[in-house]
Amino acid sequence: MNILMKSHEGIEWNKTTLENFLESVEITRDLIIELAISDRDPKEYEEKYALGLLRSGRVVDTPAILFKLGEGNNTTKCPICGSFYMGMGALSRRDNKTDICSQCGMDEAIEDMKF
Ligand SMILES: [Zn+2]
Repeated sequence: MNILMKSHEGIEWNKTTLENFLESVEITRDLIIELAISDRDPKEYEEKYALGLLRSGRVVDTPAILFKLGEGNNTTKCPICGSFYMGMGALSRRDNKTDICSQCGMDEAIEDMKF
């Protein structure tokens, strides 16, 4: 799995390891619980959940570092937002044939509910 990271202030995404990603989310989860940070949900930083987010093309936000999936063997590039995701994304509601990431699929669904 090709995982990329950058600091919040940084502009460049650099390669990192799965171990580093998992360690960072674990530290983040511990911090949220220890400091009782109420606007963050520690569940989102559980290993499985955080990996799921990463695989679905989302940026995983930890206090120091942002993580996202880079281009790899098993990734698909979302034509809308440009993020890379693994596995099933969503089918675009605009043409019913374009594969897009699940976040963009959700955005389209929410958009459709408004009108
Ligand atoms: Zn997308």
